[in-house]
Amino acid sequence: MQQDIDVLVHEVGPRDGLQSIKTVFPTGAKLEWIKAEAAAGVPQIQVGSFVRPDLLPQMADSAEVVKEAIRIPGLTVSALVPNLKGAENAIAAGAHQIGVVMSVSEAHNKSNVNRTVDESLEGFRQIVECRNAADPQRKTVISGGLATSFGCTISGPVPVADVMRRAEQLLKLGADRLSVADTVGFANPKQVRDLFDELFRTVGADVAVGAHFHDTRGLGLANAYAAVEAGVRELDSCLGGLGGCPYAPGASGNIVTEDLVFMLEAMGLRTGVDLDALLEVRELMERHLEGEPTQGTFVTAGPPLGFVPASAA
Ligand SMILES: [Zn+2]
Repeated sequence: MQQDIDVLVHEVGPRDGLQSIKTVFPTGAKLEWIKAEAAAGVPQIQVGSFVRPDLLPQMADSAEVVKEAIRIPGLTVSALVPNLKGAENAIAAGAHQIGVVMSVSEAHNKSNVNRTVDESLEGFRQIVECRNAADPQRKTVISGGLATSFGCTISGPVPVADVMRRAEQLLKLGADRLSVADTVGFANPKQVRDLFDELFRTVGADVAVGAHFHDTRGLGLANAYAAVEAGVRELDSCLGGLGGCPYAPGASGNIVTEDLVFMLEAMGLRTGVDLDALLEVRELMERHLEGEPTQGTFVTAGPPLGFVPASAA
């Protein structure tokens, strides 16, 4: 992490946002968005997902986007990979970080990727092996993602002990860092605080841990706050809260990047992001959206009188 920031904001809009909307973004428009958001100070952007193009046409240009994005000075470029083939392609394209996600919930993992969680862990092991062979200096960071850590749409509550066990297994298999996700927007702030407290006790406070929240039930920012209080220093978010859940019409997507940056900066936590510039990027992104809904409150309310962002202080 850069020296001059306290919390790393990881923009996931070009992946999580775009993959759940209808409008197909041309490659050039994605790159324009990514470049502008990096220029606004966002230090890390998830630019795509190396899935089969026939499954997700939105992500078909991910290799091309990664190859261009890694030329942006200072930007950490991350990509999601569902399997070994995706990992090979992402590493070959030059992604700085690859995110490999599995669900803690057996039922969710089965319905999502048709594998048991143990089978997904074996897949993860192969991806680490592939990275170590292709990149002996291990410059490509592997993030082990734990989806449905706060609840599952199929099986309901997910035991904290299961999250801990899977986190320990991922680290043992070679994950460089962890990402804990409330994939379906079930979490509440107390649950978040308790889970991350337990996680840092289990894996150690020095392990880099990111958090991924959806605002499905209006608790996204409250959950982000609880995660920061517990010691999490990396948060995923989407510009304009783009996206949502294809199975829940009207449900909102990830927490909104500009609202998150405002909250952190107002709390005295430096993100390195320029809020005015970020709103311009939001406008630029919206020009390509063809009526897709966006979220967020900072965009209409603006800053309170006398607001001084921590990054500017
Ligand atoms: Zn998500």
